Amino acid sequence: MASGGGTRTENTSNIKEYVEFLEGEGEQKFAENPKHVMYVKIACHMVRVLLSEMQTPYYLACIKCNKKVINEGGFYSCQNCAQNFDSCNYRYILSAVVADFTSSFIVQFMGETADQIVGMSAKEFHERKEAGQWGLEEMRQELSKRAFKDMHLIIRTKKEESTFQASQDESNSRLRHYGAKVLDWNAAEDNKMLLLRLSAY
Ligand SMILES: [Zn+2]
Repeated sequence: MASGGGTRTENTSNIKEYVEFLEGEGEQKFAENPKHVMYVKIACHMVRVLLSEMQTPYYLACIKCNKKVINEGGFYSCQNCAQNFDSCNYRYILSAVVADFTSSFIVQFMGETADQIVGMSAKEFHERKEAGQWGLEEMRQELSKRAFKDMHLIIRTKKEESTFQASQDESNSRLRHYGAKVLDWNAAEDNKMLLLRLSAY
């Protein structure tokens, strides 16, 4: 995965420690290079997915480039590829509150990492919604079943322009955390055990 100075994935950190790091040393790195990307691994759980009445938590994605496509009735048009396709993918884009024993923060999940968080593919999610099998309340209930499950999460942090209109003296960029990889708690433990066993030889 990441190479270079931004990686802190060798060891598991906690959220409080990481936020403090970002406010100090991290802030300097971003000042030197606004495109800097940082990685950290934390042991945590998802508290809840933030669902809004206004937005569906997924979008119709181009089968070639994963960018948003427009359903033109029968075909899907991608501006990025300047091409029309017969089919599309469904990709989640959602925000979730992630917590450990020290603190919590909001993490964005997209694509496969979001599939793991939700425990259901975005396509299935879409089909259930289209079939009228559930509304927002059912989605909330389904997602709440996933909450508080222990996991190891690799987080990617970068500085992004805020989509909100910032006042003139306010910086309009902020740090955003993305779920880069969801590691099953047991798998992580298994790997540790495997390493211990291998080192015994
Ligand atoms: Zn495309």
